[in-house]
This record gives sequence, structure tokens and C-alpha cells, in this order.
Amino acid sequence: MALTELHLHLEGTVDRETVMLLDPCVTREEVDRVWAFGDFPGFLNCFKFIAQRLRGPADYAFITRRMIESLAAQGVEYAEVTLAAGVILWRGFAFDQIWRAIRQAQREAEGEFPVRIWWNLDAIRQFGPDHVMEVARLASNYVGDGAISFGIGGDEVGGPALLCREAYRYAKDSGLRLTAHAGETDGPDSIRAAIDIGAERIGHGIRAAEDPDLMRLLRDRQIPLEVCITSNVRTGAVASLANHPVRQLFDAGVPITLNTDDPGVFETDLTREFAIARREFGFSEEELLAIQKQADRSRFRQPS
Ligand SMILES: [Zn+2]
Repeated sequence: MALTELHLHLEGTVDRETVMLLDPCVTREEVDRVWAFGDFPGFLNCFKFIAQRLRGPADYAFITRRMIESLAAQGVEYAEVTLAAGVILWRGFAFDQIWRAIRQAQREAEGEFPVRIWWNLDAIRQFGPDHVMEVARLASNYVGDGAISFGIGGDEVGGPALLCREAYRYAKDSGLRLTAHAGETDGPDSIRAAIDIGAERIGHGIRAAEDPDLMRLLRDRQIPLEVCITSNVRTGAVASLANHPVRQLFDAGVPITLNTDDPGVFETDLTREFAIARREFGFSEEELLAIQKQADRSRFRQPS
């Protein structure tokens, strides 16, 4: 079946081989060490290691091209991809030049492969409301030019969603859809806060499983979770694969989608995530098809 990916970070598509192509000075030993993490700080370190090797527009174009090739190879035909716009600003790059390079690479690759990409621009939540607003304003410049949504990522505990209310209102008024990472490293209240400021989909949201009332709310309001099983295991968000609540969420009627988050970092792809759901959690072919259909319903851009 044609697949849809709704939670995918461009920078997180960079795998060990790609990072060595980006920076020939990096050794295999160094890369293996960085990739051998087993907790959230180790994951953030790996993401940072990659981000530091993206040195300008050409590198962003290069990884965009490789990402689209990889999506096509997996049978993904539609993806909403997060670009860490906040990181680009923080590093002092001219955002527009990077955006132009990414969009050009996207146009070329989309001409060759049956993949369609839209962009989610996200801010670093723990940098505070002013930074989040700055990214919202930046993102609003690209409505109609590939940007479809706005979101927040980073440290959930250190950057409460409620502080981002004004930025979310601004982004929405600018024509952007809204998503937010929540309920990954923090609990149900973080998910409630994300919904409260207007998030239409929740990145991860797995800790909703701790709160039956919240699961009912997600079900009744049809707010989808972007579930990323391997990511949660690798970052230690769940104690083990067997402890992942994907089945519990699905059985409670919560709208769930399956995603990779950072396939290069976690060494997975979307086909593999579906295979894990089948093998480890007993999802039938019909249920997996229902999950894929949920992803299509949850797209911010519907086929015209
Ligand atoms: Zn993510």
C-alpha cells in the first residue's frame, strides 16, 4: 500500500553513511559512538551532531534529495516533514537561502519520484516564547510556498506549551496548521496543554495512555497521535518495546498514525514500523490498513 508519513524530521533522516558524506573528517568510530545512545540526552546529542554538520544551503539540499529518494524506496507517497527552523535561526544561518535550496531539491526530486512533501516548521520550545514567536513569524512567510504547519519540539518539561499560545494563534491566523510534540517525555498534562493552545495533531502523545479521560477526549475530538514506536524505544521514552502503549491507545479508539520520527538516527523506516506493529503488537492487516487510512485523513493537505 502507498504509505503516508506525518512525523518525520529532515535532519533526523541523516544516517551514519550520510553524515560521513557531509563531513569527511568524521570517523566511523566517532559516528558509531554517537549512534550508540540509549536515552533521550544521547538522542539529542546525535541530533545535534548531525545539525552541526549541516553547513549551509547545499547540505540541506543534499539531505532533502536523499530523504525523498528514501521515501520513494519505502513506498511513501505523501509526507509532512519537519524542518528545525528554530535550529537554523539559532545557528545564525540566513533561513531564506536554506529554504530556497531545500525547495529546489524538492522540486527536482518530486519530478523524478512519486512523492509529495509539505513542510512543518518548528521552534525550540525551551528557548522561550519570544523564540517560538520568531519562528511562527518566519514560518508565516512561507505559507503558499511549501510550509503547511507550525510546531514545537525540544524539551517538553523546560518549554511548556502554554507559553506558546500567542505564537500558535499567530501561526493559525497566518494560515498554518498546528502540531506539537507532547506526551513523549512528559505526561498527560503536556498533551492537554498542546490541545489547549490549538494543536490539531500530537507528536508522540503516547503518555495519553496513562489517562483514560484524555484518551476519550482524543477519541471524541478525533485528535490524531503521531506514534513513533522505534523512536520511543531508542530514546527510553518507554522502558522496552513490550511496554509501548500503541495497542492500548488503538484499542481505546484514539486515532493513531505510525511514523519514523528520525529514521536515520533510529535506523528504521516506515515499512519496518508497520512490520513491528504487526509482529510485536498483533495488529492485523485490516487494522494496519485502518491506521494508514487514519494517516490519510490526518494529512494537513488533502488531495484536491
Ligand atoms: Zn519528533
